[in-house]
Amino acid sequence: PTREDILYFGAGPARLPTSVLTAASTSILNHNSTGLGLTEHSHRSTLSSEILTGASNALRQLLSVPDDYSIIFMQGGGTTQFSSVVYNLLGYWVQRELEKAEDLEAVRGKLRGAKIDYLVTGTWSQKASEEASRLVGEEMVNVAADAKAVGGGKYGKIPEESAWVLTEKEKSIFTYYCDNETVDGVEFPNFPMALGDGAERLVVCDMSSNILSRKVDVRKYALIFAGAQKNVGTTGLTLVILRNDILTRQPTLKTLRSLGLPIQPIMMDYKTIAKNGSLYNTLPIFDVWVAGEVMKELVTAGGIETQEAVSGRKSDKLYATLEASPKLFQIVPMQGSRSRMNICVRILGEGLEKEFAALAEAQGMTGLKGHRSVGGIRVSNYNSISEAAVDKLVMFIEAFAVAHSV
Ligand code: PLP
Repeated sequence: PTREDILYFGAGPARLPTSVLTAASTSILNHNSTGLGLTEHSHRSTLSSEILTGASNALRQLLSVPDDYSIIFMQGGGTTQFSSVVYNLLGYWVQRELEKAEDLEAVRGKLRGAKIDYLVTGTWSQKASEEASRLVGEEMVNVAADAKAVGGGKYGKIPEESAWVLTEKEKSIFTYYCDNETVDGVEFPNFPMALGDGAERLVVCDMSSNILSRKVDVRKYALIFAGAQKNVGTTGLTLVILRNDILTRQPTLKTLRSLGLPIQPIMMDYKTIAKNGSLYNTLPIFDVWVAGEVMKELVTAGGIETQEAVSGRKSDKLYATLEASPKLFQIVPMQGSRSRMNICVRILGEGLEKEFAALAEAQGMTGLKGHRSVGGIRVSNYNSISEAAVDKLVMFIEAFAVAHSV
């Protein structure tokens, strides 16, 4: 098939705009008539530095990132951030306590009972919490909300905030959540009230699969990260938006050693990466360029408001179509926890999920199989999915429902 023949609804890596990829194919051979492809240009050239600035500015504009926040580009995907946030935010907490107490023994005392709070609402936040346990020990990790416990052993409902057991503010190192759980189709409808306004608790958020799909009040977060490969760009590149004081308030290695705390690998050290303008090592500038082009297109298309409206319209249509045939389609997550980006559904009836995926594929609609860990059907509705593509899928779902009406 040609590219035009395929409507791809896979969960990631996701499709990128054809316009960007067409320009990329020229760029990779001969960028801007320089006689060198973009993957061959030095990451320290003026050309690369302009690409970095362009991408960073576009992100700042799209999410209205305040001036006292930095944007850094890293590598290693969302998974590497599961580790980085633990080291760096723990470091920040220690330094802050040290500034208050000016006494290492007092900090040692406060560390006893200090916890990182995790809202575990799906596969990815679970993984992140497990990584924290691996790095700093289970005793420092508090699962403040456990969605499996309220979902009969399955993910699909964000527990009521009143049921969360957050660590008291003074003892909370940071609170972590995943805004959109890609595997389970669960998304926070908005910023959790229980986490306040960002002044009292440090909030860290994984927005890998819904960044740039709706407005975000960056001020409420200490740090936001996102692997680029869903809504922004190519695999591996990772965006990190973080409050500047996290970069400046970090303990010395001597302090960390005296407290018996882990020291981060240098590539995970935000301070080092930021100080070097994301160029501590050889950053894949081509990937930054792709992300920058995608983001500039979003700016031109009307910015985040447009994207939020389009994402809402597309997902509303899909859910409404599925809800119209409740005997055939069972939407996995509960109302109020349903993702606009990943729509997870079971099709009731022996062999029907396989049939659905195969029939759709025969019509060029691919990538609809659910994650291998949960099965079912998953429609990923990222920014690059057009409304026309969703309309075609909606018609297909309606026809499937008619053919299998029970
Ligand atoms: N977080 C979320 C929400 C994801 O969807 C994914 C990957 O799909 C990850 C983290 C892990 O990202 P990566 O594979 O880039 O490490």
